[in-house]
Amino acid sequence: MKKNRYLKPFVALILFVLIISCNSNHKATTNDTGMKILPVNKELFIQDNLLEDITEKTIDLNGDPTLCYIIKTKSQPSEHSMGPWCPEHIEDGKEKAGLWFNDGKVYDVDGHFIAELAEFYKDEKWKLFREDGSIKVTKTQEECEGAAKPDVDEEYYNYCVECMPEYYQDQITTYTIPVFPKYNNATQRLGRNGIGLAFNGVNFDPPAPTHAILAAHTIAPIDDHGGHVNPHGGYHYHAATGSTKEVEQTDSHSPMIGYAIDGFGIYAFLDTNSQEPKYLDECGGHSDDIRGYHYHAGEPGGNQILKCLRGVPGHMKVN
Ligand SMILES: [Zn+2]
Ligand SMILES: [Zn+2]
Repeated sequence: MKKNRYLKPFVALILFVLIISCNSNHKATTNDTGMKILPVNKELFIQDNLLEDITEKTIDLNGDPTLCYIIKTKSQPSEHSMGPWCPEHIEDGKEKAGLWFNDGKVYDVDGHFIAELAEFYKDEKWKLFREDGSIKVTKTQEECEGAAKPDVDEEYYNYCVECMPEYYQDQITTYTIPVFPKYNNATQRLGRNGIGLAFNGVNFDPPAPTHAILAAHTIAPIDDHGGHVNPHGGYHYHAATGSTKEVEQTDSHSPMIGYAIDGFGIYAFLDTNSQEPKYLDECGGHSDDIRGYHYHAGEPGGNQILKCLRGVPGHMKVN
């Protein structure tokens, strides 16, 4: 009987430890170089935007079995509406259209901007509008798919290109992200396997291929929230404009806006005093004692949310 008296609290303790360790919130660790590494906090994702609960799975990444989170979403925001992108008429104001970037700056794609493209790019071949002032805009899924690709169909040269989210609303985006990001001295170039996501589950995309787009005298504006739609991934962001869920920090550091595909956190560009982040590496990341290694999203005009990846990347798949 005496034995039993000690056994009960012991069993309770074991159960307690089990419950704690099964809890999704993994603990921070330190890597060999003394750098703090924060695990992905899956609670930060907007639960209503997920198609199912986030699960854990051990996946082979770069030859190593790696514990990953599997996140399934529709890649559609809940914090803001999508669009507008292209204006319809050269007299339309900026409220009827989105943004375009050039040389590090963002521009409102209002009717006036469209009318002045030949001058803007110093190229007479630009003419996206008809004699009556209406603007040539892709109007159907077929038109968007003919125009929203690197080798633009000739009939869509000189078009403002937009695809509607409805065309791809049945797509499912699955992100596989290491729970514990692994810092590498060598950096990884951004590929088509995804670079990260906002807390609403929308994909952060590599830079828009502006050279290919402009070569066909087309533009594919992003909306005021930094996103537009393409046939391969539905709605996605090329710029972080502060429209999505942000996680405020306890110090003056900029808020967190999502996770990179390698599991490191992504934070906004400016801190609460409107100061730019300091000592960023070539990927746009740095490390501090609170957040460990993390990225800062580039400025919206840069067409580059991340410049490269520091960690071993997971991947993104669209079905
Ligand atoms: Zn895009
Ligand atoms: Zn920072």
